[in-house]
Amino acid sequence: MAKENIIGPRIGAHKSIAKSIDLAVDRGIQSTCECLQIFTRPPRRWEATKLTPEAIQTFIEKSRMANYYDTAIHMPYLPNLASPDDNLFTKSVEVLTEEVEKMTLLHTPYVITHLGSPKDHDENFAAKRVAEALNKVRKYIKKPSMILLENSTAKRKTWGNKIDHFEEILGFVQEEHYIGVCFDTAHAFSSGYDISTTEGLNEVIDKLEEMVGKYKLKLFHINDSKGPLGSGIDHHEHIGKGYIGLDCFKELMQNPRYKKIPMVLETPKDDKIGDKQNLDLLRKLRSQN
Ligand SMILES: [Zn+2]
Ligand SMILES: [Zn+2]
Repeated sequence: MAKENIIGPRIGAHKSIAKSIDLAVDRGIQSTCECLQIFTRPPRRWEATKLTPEAIQTFIEKSRMANYYDTAIHMPYLPNLASPDDNLFTKSVEVLTEEVEKMTLLHTPYVITHLGSPKDHDENFAAKRVAEALNKVRKYIKKPSMILLENSTAKRKTWGNKIDHFEEILGFVQEEHYIGVCFDTAHAFSSGYDISTTEGLNEVIDKLEEMVGKYKLKLFHINDSKGPLGSGIDHHEHIGKGYIGLDCFKELMQNPRYKKIPMVLETPKDDKIGDKQNLDLLRKLRSQN
């Protein structure tokens, strides 16, 4: 993708690594992505996918050609970094360590993780537990790579749905230069943050930056929401077709404060609308006066 022609943030999508990890890059190019997110392993299983040295090398070369220089690795869903269960916690830290090591292997800068659930324990326990996990993997992180904490949707006994939780975690880590934030618009909205207006969006991001620091926000997941404001329903929708609506996404595309932050779609892929159509719409919003 030609970077020099882009005015505003680079936009892309989550792509599958099925058959070989380098094919995620081909899929990204096919959908006109300007940046990329991947799972390096099946998201709902514990076993990792074996990546051959050849596939890794091809992934790196193709990424360079496509100008995908900040591809994000999303953690699988089974690990729970806030778990009070010691076995599950240890297993989760192992997976986080493996994914952190893949950043070095694949020459990518970000691993994104959800904050997990402390089950019957309180928020203070959860913040300490996640911080403990982050402290444990610190030594495997090579600068300038980072772990990005993603806000989740409010569900029963789920934690990590408030932007305050990022601040609580940062209060317990030994160092924080390798920790950043990934802001998911659909998760924020269904957790009660009304970002459907320009003012609403900017207020929430102001508050987030106030809490965690101005340069911690490294990535956006740009998804519209099938669930209404505060519904706790984590269903992503095509851009402009859900309850968030176009104003939020237009602001993300146009406000200079967001133009250096990559934005990744995690919207459905169905018969009528795929990533390419959502990206075309976003590019239209990006180029409007
Ligand atoms: Zn996520
Ligand atoms: Zn997300």
